[in-house]
Amino acid sequence: MKVEELYGKLRTTVIGSFPLPHSYENMARALRDQVEAGIDYPCYGQLLDMNLMFLEPLAEQGCGVEIREGEVWLVGEPKTPAKPIGLEYLDLAMEHLSKSGMMGKVIGLKVPVTGPVTLASVIKVTKEHRAVEYPDVVLALADVVASIVKGYDEGGARIITIDEPVLPYALYAGLKEDVILEALDKVVKAFSRAIPSLHCCGDAQPVADLLLRSGFPVLSHAFKATPQNLEAYDRKKLEGYDKILGLGCVDSNPDPQLMLDVAAGRKAWSEAVESVDEVEAFIDKAGEIYGYDRLLIHPDCGFGGLKSYFKDDVGHLIAIAKLKVMVEATKRVKKKVKTKAL
Ligand SMILES: [Zn+2]
Repeated sequence: MKVEELYGKLRTTVIGSFPLPHSYENMARALRDQVEAGIDYPCYGQLLDMNLMFLEPLAEQGCGVEIREGEVWLVGEPKTPAKPIGLEYLDLAMEHLSKSGMMGKVIGLKVPVTGPVTLASVIKVTKEHRAVEYPDVVLALADVVASIVKGYDEGGARIITIDEPVLPYALYAGLKEDVILEALDKVVKAFSRAIPSLHCCGDAQPVADLLLRSGFPVLSHAFKATPQNLEAYDRKKLEGYDKILGLGCVDSNPDPQLMLDVAAGRKAWSEAVESVDEVEAFIDKAGEIYGYDRLLIHPDCGFGGLKSYFKDDVGHLIAIAKLKVMVEATKRVKKKVKTKAL
């Protein structure tokens, strides 16, 4: 377990995506903006589709999938690629941090990797069936994801988060818990230096017990827009399984009508940003339930979805304003509980 680095520290991080078009310049901007907002573990700035950014390079290297007219098809058993996937994003971020003198302002970089169940959910086997229905394909993809994690782990990432938004659906669709646990186990074993974390947004209730039994020491969920998730875990279980809870505490997917009004100039974008008081109260609520020691603070999910509303960078301005509010609220909470555990 490498949770000591997070335990009792109320650190801040992000999920990873930002609503900017993909370019190295924009990745650098997303990273810089996170550092300036005061995020402890910023992400390199994930601007590509979370599935295709891993599946396209797999297809290029003939590793069991093909892309046809934007759809991903299974054409053989998924294989570990010869050339590492996605490492360039971590390398660029490291370089940018050190060249710009920002390295000292952060604790380390957080890298998102899409999990095997979620990757399997977008791979078509036939017109009607997807790879998530085939346990052997999910497990083969877990080996592929493990190889990607290994690259990032050796490349110096401090936290690597496996994104598995599809887990509740996969359970519902009939994928067995023991297959999911076996797949997650393959992935978590690839970690050596980085802190393993698992992010699953949406309803946490159906997956909480499963994830507690997994080898991941950090479990991350959306709580702000899904406050019923506060009932998915309790302090005793978090302590018993020695987990840190990633607390989504700002909404990354604001009301669509409000976003349309902002885009049309009818409302100010600042209306989509929570107040520091509101976020502080939310962190306090979670702290009272779970204990402040076991919280890692982050937004509900990535901000990439905001891109669809705006032709310019307003979505990004909203995202960064939310991060600043989150950092400020965390500072206040830290100050208050300092005398106790922090
Ligand atoms: Zn998410």
